[in-house]
Amino acid sequence: MSMQAEATATRMDAWEPVIGLEIHLQLSTNTKMFCRCRLEFGAAPNTHVCPVCLAHPGVLPVPNRRAVDFAIMIGLALNCEIADRTTFSRKNYFYADSPKAYQISQYEDPICGPGYLDVPDGEGGTFRVGITRAHMEEDAAKLVHAGSSGRIADSSHSFVDFNRVGTPLVEVVTDPDIRTPDQAKRFLTLLKTTIETLGVSDCNMEEGSLRCDANISVRPRGETEFGTKTELKNMNSFRFIERGIHAELARQVDLLERGESIEQATMHYDPTTGAIRQLRSKEAAHDYRYFPEPDLVPVEVDAAHIERVRGDMTELPMARMSRFQEQYGLSSYDAEVLNIDKATADFYEAAVSAASTADAKLVANWTMGELLALQKDDKDVEPAQLAALVDLVAAKTISGAVAKELLVRIADEGIDPAATVEAEGLGQVSDTGALREVIVGILDANPKQVEQFKGGKDSLVGFFVGQVMKAMQGKADPGATKDLIVELLAER
Ligand code: ADP
Ligand code: ZN
Ligand code: MG
Repeated sequence: MSMQAEATATRMDAWEPVIGLEIHLQLSTNTKMFCRCRLEFGAAPNTHVCPVCLAHPGVLPVPNRRAVDFAIMIGLALNCEIADRTTFSRKNYFYADSPKAYQISQYEDPICGPGYLDVPDGEGGTFRVGITRAHMEEDAAKLVHAGSSGRIADSSHSFVDFNRVGTPLVEVVTDPDIRTPDQAKRFLTLLKTTIETLGVSDCNMEEGSLRCDANISVRPRGETEFGTKTELKNMNSFRFIERGIHAELARQVDLLERGESIEQATMHYDPTTGAIRQLRSKEAAHDYRYFPEPDLVPVEVDAAHIERVRGDMTELPMARMSRFQEQYGLSSYDAEVLNIDKATADFYEAAVSAASTADAKLVANWTMGELLALQKDDKDVEPAQLAALVDLVAAKTISGAVAKELLVRIADEGIDPAATVEAEGLGQVSDTGALREVIVGILDANPKQVEQFKGGKDSLVGFFVGQVMKAMQGKADPGATKDLIVELLAER
């Protein structure tokens, strides 16, 4: 920890953060919430619009059944009570992103009532975050400001793209149960994997299909009342949300320790500078004058309907983590890392079933370590390719060091690992005669280290193994090498 981080951590001992999240999820239905316009991210502006979503006079909204089912599914995954009767409300506001001058949302009786999500704490346990509610609503249009698009030269105008207006949303609201920025990130990570697994939203933060606001306050530890909260708006990565919360907590503690008070406000965090600033104070907040939407009848959801939706649900991430531990003999830590997103968990299971080795832990190590590192460099391999490589390691045909190099070549050139090992003679050397010769040479060349080893510095074995690996381009069997080094050193 840096000195500054340490000072902040010590100071935070006296203060308890209280965090509640509001997450907007764009549902991946084919059409909009109340009309039949197609949803297509990145389409030419204003090409997916109709009289309903443009709010022409005399038109009527019709709810998208699939969106309702998706909302129920999200509620079930979050252990929520599903309402048997749910209504829509108008949330009134005036802004260029809303042609109706109101948003159809839910207010009094949301489709999903109280629930919870148990989240891995990274130490083998879980913590519980209460879900206040999850309700359906429609998205606003997208404002395109001058300068943000190459086509727009005139800096005095903003443009409105109505393709997005009416996109079905589910807003998930958590109870103020989150106590650290790390917990906020963990909750969001599990929520995202859960929603991805359900297949009801693609959760693409860059494209805005998952958007998160964090409500933040602090209180003296031991205090039961909540402090005044501020709201951190719209950050486009979980890492920035975590950092933004840190910054806002520090700002609040600063103010409180100087005897000042927290003003309810909306905050903006700039991830590039780390600066946090106030966007608007709550003084200017809207009174939305919610009232029941007269154009829509209540949606009735009976038990059979809920069970039908439940029947369409796949295995959720927490269940999958437990299964990974039982079926593959993995630790809770490994199971959690592999379930960091659905794609990684799917990759792992495909690789395990493609591999000949029964060593599922070895496949897990290669998936978590080398595959994820490879993907950070924007490279990728197929599960079967990783499996073929791990099989060579499991059979001790090649060393780990050679395997790592081969993995990059699989990604770059699509080589076949077994054929390449054969053709280039990359097989692991565990033949004692060949190893002995190299080791003797290395011990001879490093008399000082040999003396130090004999003087009790055991850790130098690692140095000698490294030297042998280097001399043999990583092809030496590390286990056999180490044994032989110890044996030969004892003779000196
Ligand atoms: P508002 O009326 O300002 O919208 P809500 O009570 O509806 O506030 O809560 C909105 C979000 O803020 C929820 O996620 C909730 O958990 C969170 N929240 C409420 N009070 C606090 C607080 N004192 N500190 C942090 N978060 C809070
Ligand atoms: Zn439309
Ligand atoms: Mg509220």
